[in-house]
Amino acid sequence: MLFKKKKIERRVSLEKKVLDSILSYCQMRHPNEGILILKGKSKQGNIMIDGLVIPPFNYSGPTFAGFPHSFLPFDMSYVGTVHSHSSGSAEPSVTDLHNFFGLVSIIVQSPYGDNDVFAWDSSGNPVPVSIV
Ligand SMILES: [Zn+2]
Repeated sequence: MLFKKKKIERRVSLEKKVLDSILSYCQMRHPNEGILILKGKSKQGNIMIDGLVIPPFNYSGPTFAGFPHSFLPFDMSYVGTVHSHSSGSAEPSVTDLHNFFGLVSIIVQSPYGDNDVFAWDSSGNPVPVSIV
C-alpha cells in the first residue's frame, strides 16, 4: 500500500570526519556563508552522511549561499546540503526552504563547534543528528 500510515522518523547520522570537514570549511568561509553537498545514503528514514562535494559555481555572501542546481549531475548519493549561518542562528530562512535540495538541510551556526550543527527537513522541522 502506498499510503500506509507508518510514520518513518527521519534522522541523520553524520560521520565524525565529515563533521570535522564541514566545521573547518565553515570557519574558512566566515564571515561569508559556505555551502556543500552532502553525500551518503538513506535507509528507512536514516540518512547516513559519509562524504561532501563542493558544488560547482557556488556563490555566497554574509547572508546567503547557494549554487545553480542545473549544473549538478544526477546523482542518487546526493542526500542534501549543508551551509553555514555566520549570524549565529541555525534556523532555516525562507530562502533556505525555497532552495531545499535532497532529503535534509544541515545548518551550522557560528562559531561552528560540534554543538552548532542542526538538521532540518523540507518543512523546516528539526531532524535529530547523531555523530557516528
Ligand atoms: Zn541559510
